[in-house]
Amino acid sequence: MASMDANGSRQALGAQEQYCRSCAAVMSREALACPKCGAPNASAVAASGVSPKSRTVALLLCFFFGLFGVHRFYVGKVGTGIAMILTLGGLTIWSLIDFIMIIVGSFTDSEGRRVETW
Ligand SMILES: [Zn+2]
Repeated sequence: MASMDANGSRQALGAQEQYCRSCAAVMSREALACPKCGAPNASAVAASGVSPKSRTVALLLCFFFGLFGVHRFYVGKVGTGIAMILTLGGLTIWSLIDFIMIIVGSFTDSEGRRVETW
């Protein structure tokens, strides 16, 4: 049975190429954004292991509201964010560890991607 290929009528892509989901221009799979329209390339962002969340925002939230786990809510870690509220930041130690993790770029979001873009 022949499969329906939406791209069947288009010219073949190179192994490292794909169509932009926004404007359908050919772009590199590894490009973080389309060079033509600037649309973010979600698959490349996920594959690169880098969170789209801002490290600056996470750091500031952790600094000012770390005891309430606000930085964890920010990166999508709702469960541990609530746990952090209930324990007041693991008696501040947990929040302090998160603060250091954010500074050194080892803090991860809910998808396990590192929050390292300032
Ligand atoms: Zn595009």
